[in-house]
Amino acid sequence: MHILTAIPTQPIAISRNSAWLVAIILFVCIFWPEAVASAEETNQAAPSPDKVLYLTFDDGPSDYTQEILDLLARYDAKATFFVIGRAAASQPELIEIIFAAGHGLGNHTYNHPSLPSVSRERMVDEVAKTAAVLGDRDGGCLRPPYGARNAAVVKNTEQLGYQLALWTIDPRDWARPGARVIANHVITHAHPDGVVVMHDGGGNRAQTVAALRIILPALAKQGYRFAAMCRDGVAPPLQKQAPPPMPPSSAPILTTSAPSANKGSANASATDDVAVEEAPPAPLGVVSFTSPKAGATVRGVVAVTAVATHPTFRKWQLDLILDGGSDTFLALGEAPADEPTELVRWDTALYPDGEHQLRLRVVYEGMNYDEILLPVTVANQ
Ligand SMILES: [Zn+2]
Repeated sequence: MHILTAIPTQPIAISRNSAWLVAIILFVCIFWPEAVASAEETNQAAPSPDKVLYLTFDDGPSDYTQEILDLLARYDAKATFFVIGRAAASQPELIEIIFAAGHGLGNHTYNHPSLPSVSRERMVDEVAKTAAVLGDRDGGCLRPPYGARNAAVVKNTEQLGYQLALWTIDPRDWARPGARVIANHVITHAHPDGVVVMHDGGGNRAQTVAALRIILPALAKQGYRFAAMCRDGVAPPLQKQAPPPMPPSSAPILTTSAPSANKGSANASATDDVAVEEAPPAPLGVVSFTSPKAGATVRGVVAVTAVATHPTFRKWQLDLILDGGSDTFLALGEAPADEPTELVRWDTALYPDGEHQLRLRVVYEGMNYDEILLPVTVANQ
């Protein structure tokens, strides 16, 4: 029986090796049937306690959330929803349904600003207002919009009593590359303790839902179990690992301009309901775009203007992160931009149309850097 099932799966089309292959297979099947049997077993279900994957959904709740919940239930899968406070406030019943179904709930701010560009007071307000909507269902995890963070954001997150919750697998479902592309990315990048970022809000998420229909059975077949984090004492797994690399950013739903820089704001006093640890303040830099505005549609030659400075400034670097995820160098500066400075006259016609992001980094002592991401749509055609 093992021989019949095993032979057709081997590469016997390579004719000069086929006799050897058949001989080896016969040998293995006759003298070591357990090996074949266990190999077959690993191709089938049986969730392993070691293969946990954390599916997370950002920017909801929305009209797509219930459909995602139904799909998750069908596969006995748990997930974590990083909700936008203002969306949650408008659909409190959906928040209740998510939590009652055993999923985790995380804080994704109230208005989805890029946190490195807002003041400490604004960040505290964004987090606190969302926490108020979630109440005791708030699992104590903060996912910064676009994954954008700098030293001040990380410090504020800790002071607010939250854990930073990022991701390890980003299929960029918000760019709507097709359900199969999204599903293939997740399936081929899945790893134990992996965290997948997808989106149940912020736009048309039909592709995300369709991708989930492929992902759930495919990874369940590989033995994955889908678990919730940020509830019942399950911390984001990244907290147990080395600091993650700066990830590409998340959904480009930010439509407001980048607000004023955050210089000195981490020293501001906290609101009454926030416990603040006494720690020497780290030197703060400022990295902020002034033009174009976040979410702008650009064409032709565009002046990119920004502030990029730090007490131990080394250089600034401007890159373009293309729709497909690749980084393209745009400009580099050896002098700090203490006030709004034109960094480059960017010829957008040299790049494909699409939803891209400008990324500005200010590199300082020790090759550390702060960065900001700015979503823009290039439309020359
Ligand atoms: Zn988001």
